[in-house]
Amino acid sequence: MMHFLKEVIIMGVQLDLEELDEVLVAASAIISVFGFDEWEYSHIDEVLLYPTTFNHSFQFDDQSEDKQVLGMVGNGFMNGKMILSRNALRNGFQNHTDKNNTAIHEFVHLLDKEDGEIDGIPQVLINHQYTIPWLDLMHIKMEEINNDKSDMRNYGGTSKTEFFAVASEYFFERPDQLKRKHPKLFVMMEKSFKQSPKYKAVRKRK
Ligand SMILES: [Zn+2]
Repeated sequence: MMHFLKEVIIMGVQLDLEELDEVLVAASAIISVFGFDEWEYSHIDEVLLYPTTFNHSFQFDDQSEDKQVLGMVGNGFMNGKMILSRNALRNGFQNHTDKNNTAIHEFVHLLDKEDGEIDGIPQVLINHQYTIPWLDLMHIKMEEINNDKSDMRNYGGTSKTEFFAVASEYFFERPDQLKRKHPKLFVMMEKSFKQSPKYKAVRKRK
């Protein structure tokens, strides 16, 4: 976390940045890469924290509409930047049972971007030989979501990219439940992230 905070600037936009915010951003950044030695993100130099949700034009003032975005990884002129709603960042860590964590979700998109494309097939995580089984499994799991036969968040059914990020939130927040309800997916994620989250600790905090 110290290393991440040395490399990446965290900026509050129209809010007073607190130490807690920096700690939570850094924790979100390293949770998914904890199993890798000497990890460096290639596509991030700044995280902007907005006080609330925002729209696709990055606006969050009272006059703006469609402020539904909780977090995003920048493209084009926003390359290297991530925007997070501070509310969403904090809620992600306050609620241990809802399988949602916006900041982990966005950092997983960044991991996915390491091979040049955010496509739900992060080559840094998924060895070439597992690509086909991973695609097959994603397809089945997304069908379950889209047929209303899954406890995974609906958003995960919208694209392979979002499926991977939503499944990762679930894996890191409720590994016990994921293991029980989606054993194949759990094993795949364990292998990809090279870690097996300790679920007893999560239970105790409830
Ligand atoms: Zn996403």
